[in-house]
Amino acid sequence: MSKIDRQEILDVLDGYDKEDTTIATLGSHSSLHMFQGAKTEGFRTAVVCEKGREVPYKRFNVADEYIMVDKFSDIVNDEVQDELRELNSIVFPHGSFVAYAGLDNIETIFNVPMFGNRDILRWEAERDLERKLMTESGVRIPKKITDPSKIDGTVMVKFPGARGGRGYFVANSTEEFDQKIEAMLERKWIEDEDIKEAHIEEYVLGCNYCIHYFFSGLKDEVELLGIDSRYESTIDGLTRVPAKDQLDIGADPSYVITGNHPVVMRESLLPQVFDIGDKITEGAKGLVPPGFNGPFCMQTLVNDDLEVVVFEMSARSDGGTNTFMNGSAYSYLYYGEPLSMGRRMALEIKKGIEENRLEEIIT
Ligand code: ADP
Repeated sequence: MSKIDRQEILDVLDGYDKEDTTIATLGSHSSLHMFQGAKTEGFRTAVVCEKGREVPYKRFNVADEYIMVDKFSDIVNDEVQDELRELNSIVFPHGSFVAYAGLDNIETIFNVPMFGNRDILRWEAERDLERKLMTESGVRIPKKITDPSKIDGTVMVKFPGARGGRGYFVANSTEEFDQKIEAMLERKWIEDEDIKEAHIEEYVLGCNYCIHYFFSGLKDEVELLGIDSRYESTIDGLTRVPAKDQLDIGADPSYVITGNHPVVMRESLLPQVFDIGDKITEGAKGLVPPGFNGPFCMQTLVNDDLEVVVFEMSARSDGGTNTFMNGSAYSYLYYGEPLSMGRRMALEIKKGIEENRLEEIIT
């Protein structure tokens, strides 16, 4: 199926009554501050919600319109799209929206104006594209080890599609790599043909910082809006077990995110943080025009050489933005008042409408 023609989206946008714009998204992930922020900036809000999942939106009273669906993936159905367009909706993408709507559908059939660059979402989903964007932008990422025989330090081994880091493992030598692969084959976690797909990279021993940026297409500038760190099961649970008992438990660490907490970085690291933001947004402009637009997140580890190493990115609002629904230390520095990522997005849309430049920031 062919990609949605940009002109089609612009035609939809053209037919909108901009004074009566709705901010809409799927009720999940990081939608609460998007709705709250949109309402604060004077927009109507619409939640596309799976039946049974409406409780938070009702209890926090952040949604004006409810588009109820049997399952989240119905957001791409024609009737739902019609309803969204009737409300003059601009959709704010987030992780669950992308997962349930589906990348292919977003690229080919979801004919509702979205904030941000819909083409960049694929660059987060495919490891090779993500690496290309980061390497060509000049961002420091974990070094790749091209062959198991070349392991000469601690490495992390990843398999495609291993969500939540289940089945990721750490190895210190080629022998250990072989043993662990053998164990995974026995457990049927992987098949023979998966072995060649194993991605081996430098293990970065460091602390986790997920940096939430906002690229303003209208200002042509990247802002640092907040930083979070993750609580992950079972890796964080394991650190609560005394070392002498850890081996007895025999648990395999996984990295399933269960929550996030806000953090700040030492101030002397902030030049690196802005450098990463500037480099990746410049790089993206050339590789996937118009580049980043709106929220994105660089997931990093900071080692004791004080290097900020990026191991993953989100090309849209990341779940860790929920740590600053009432603003972060950094968003306060820009705006002097509580400002969530959602509110920043709404502000950009508002400015786009006022300056008649909405088409620059939607796809
Ligand atoms: P997923 O996308 O499946 O959640 P990630 O790529 O985010 O998996 O990795 C899961 C976790 O593994 C991260 O939170 C991080 O703590 C750890 N991790 C990933 N890459 C490395 C690395 N190169 N060195 C050390 N830890 C890593």
